[in-house]
Amino acid sequence: MSNLSGRVQTVLGLVDPEKLGRTMTHEHLTMTFECCYFPPPQGDEAVAANPFQMQHMHWLRQNPYSCHENLLLQQETDAVRDELRVYKQAGGGAIVENTTTGLERDLPTLKQLAQDTGVHIIAGAGYYVDCTHSETTKSMTVEQLTDVIVSEVLNGADGTDIRCGVIGEIGTGWPITDSEKRVLRATAHAQTRLGCPVIIHPGRNPAAPAEVVRILQEAGGDIGKTVMSHLDRTIFDEGELLEFAKLGSYLEYDLFGTEMLNYPYNTDIDMPSDSQRVKTLAFLVKEGYEDKILVAHDIHTKNRLTKFGGHGYSHILKNIVPKMLTRGISQRQVDKILIDNPKHWLTFK
Ligand SMILES: [Zn+2]
Repeated sequence: MSNLSGRVQTVLGLVDPEKLGRTMTHEHLTMTFECCYFPPPQGDEAVAANPFQMQHMHWLRQNPYSCHENLLLQQETDAVRDELRVYKQAGGGAIVENTTTGLERDLPTLKQLAQDTGVHIIAGAGYYVDCTHSETTKSMTVEQLTDVIVSEVLNGADGTDIRCGVIGEIGTGWPITDSEKRVLRATAHAQTRLGCPVIIHPGRNPAAPAEVVRILQEAGGDIGKTVMSHLDRTIFDEGELLEFAKLGSYLEYDLFGTEMLNYPYNTDIDMPSDSQRVKTLAFLVKEGYEDKILVAHDIHTKNRLTKFGGHGYSHILKNIVPKMLTRGISQRQVDKILIDNPKHWLTFK
């Protein structure tokens, strides 16, 4: 723990937190999302089988999960490398790569991308949602899971010596399954041992984030060093949002660039637009939470890369920041959200 204290752990080793610069705290550079395939609307099967054509771009934005090929981000490492160079040119410094066990985490590729582009990449330890847990994972005790997570941070993961610098994204659904609860407890125990940052993927229900916090807290987790992801598709009521914010976690709006009408994983959800996301950030800033906000795109399908007509990893820097500045968020507050908050979260205690 002592040599990690006060540092950030990237896939290339420990760095001074001041070196990170602007940081997207929830992205994927290589992963598979086949676990969450959703069949296309009736009659669209032919489009789904041949999606990457100009006339299908809108369809793909509306139905990103209904096309097998679109879920294989790991096939696009060359395009991702180009995008990271653009990200760096646009003023980006670091990316937290949240791919965990269950999504085909690929640490050697992350290391290569960091070497090739100069972008600091922080990898994630732990496990994604229940449907990706193997039989072995499901049979493990909290203590065994804790040991695996600690080792992924201290020694390296997936048989490599490449070390993770955060725990997560830790996947949970709604309701939270027993296996997910064990992983959450292991996450809290590992965080206690390591003093490290944690990031959570909550289920798609407004009550899910607070329930995760409750489980982590009960197991001794440090909520002030924990990020709640995907709030943009989870808590919509301003009063409920403030209630959740009081619990003290970081509040992450990480689906910037995703605008879709019918969200297949929960059709009750109205996915917000980017303008609505910025409005919510301005609301949280006004309520005094500027030290707790984090942002990202959570790119996890091919169609969100610029190669396929998507917004890419630089969308926030190029388009969202100027919008924030016109909506009552100051440059100093933008810098907190992009630089200071990620830095504080990612630094080991
Ligand atoms: Zn993610």
